[in-house]
Amino acid sequence: MAEERKLYMCMRCGRVFSKPEMEILPGIRCPYCNFKIIMKVRSPTVKRIPAV
Ligand SMILES: [Zn+2]
Repeated sequence: MAEERKLYMCMRCGRVFSKPEMEILPGIRCPYCNFKIIMKVRSPTVKRIPAV
């Protein structure tokens, strides 16, 4: 199994960060702005947002 690089994107400030960065703070939240709504992404350049 290839290890997939998991990245997370903050829905507030739009920053992309990895799991270790996120784990600097307790819980799932943005390490930059403390926002709690985080989206998983597979690469920093992913732009597959489904049309609403
Ligand atoms: Zn943020």
